[in-house]
Amino acid sequence: VNYSKKFAVEPGSAVRLDDMDPSFTGKHASEDDAKAAVAKDRERLAELQYRLYAENQRSVLIVLQALDAGGKDGTVRHVFGALNPQGATAHSFKVPTAEEAAHDFLWRAHKVTPARGQIAIFNRSYYEDVLVTRVHGLVSKDAIEKRYDRIVEFEKNLAQAGTRILKFFLHISADEQLRRFEQRLDDPRRQWKISESDYSERPYWDAYRKAYEDTLERTSTNRAPWYVIPANHKWFRNLAVGRIVTDAVDELDPKYPPPAVDIEKMRAAFHAAAELSTGTA
Ligand code: AMP
Ligand code: MG
Repeated sequence: VNYSKKFAVEPGSAVRLDDMDPSFTGKHASEDDAKAAVAKDRERLAELQYRLYAENQRSVLIVLQALDAGGKDGTVRHVFGALNPQGATAHSFKVPTAEEAAHDFLWRAHKVTPARGQIAIFNRSYYEDVLVTRVHGLVSKDAIEKRYDRIVEFEKNLAQAGTRILKFFLHISADEQLRRFEQRLDDPRRQWKISESDYSERPYWDAYRKAYEDTLERTSTNRAPWYVIPANHKWFRNLAVGRIVTDAVDELDPKYPPPAVDIEKMRAAFHAAAELSTGTA
């Protein structure tokens, strides 16, 4: 199945999240059923990342957005698990610091976009600046409209500099969110994740849904597409995100650079060195 096609938001198309099933799992009936496919993608991605790193020309930016408990952290862990840390960076976007807030909203993001050869994952992103800010009326409607345009331009700038951009909205249901909040309460290893905002944001569910729909409609482009990932099942979310990322890097087809030296000359040097060392063995 081509998940890139299936879950992509067509540029200019209308988005209705209520019509998208967050529990979708395709032909896979269970996690066990998907394990082999996940393992294969991870291996492919590791190999492709190595080539991207060696090529040192292009980069990949993965943006993760979701409501609380939507699975961003788990997705970072999963996708990153396949990567060599030397060619990867992860960045979480929190409430802006005083210094960040004193700059334009893209400033803090631009500083951490991926360098050549690197894959960067944004856990939340500059998209918070058209989502949480809109839902809480921190920014006017007019300013939000302008920010959509700034974002599209920003991504165009990155794309033209060689960055492949992939943006994921992890789509969960309100019921699933509540179930995950319950798990957080009951599991000592998850209690640290509980925040007051988990509950104070829930009444804004519909406002977030609307804000996401407008954002996806306004900012999904061919060079920086959005994907709406059914995320009620963590294993399917991991499969779908992993597949889309892997296929995208595969499409870049990164190439090992030609050797920086004359290989025949180096071969001669090797033989000379080997001869000397047998002489002294
Ligand atoms: P978490 O992802 O659980 O660590 O929470 C990070 C919090 O930072 C979330 O409540 C976000 O909505 C908030 N946040 C991130 N970026 C912004 C922003 N630009 N403006 C306001 N709040 C933000
Ligand atoms: Mg949180």
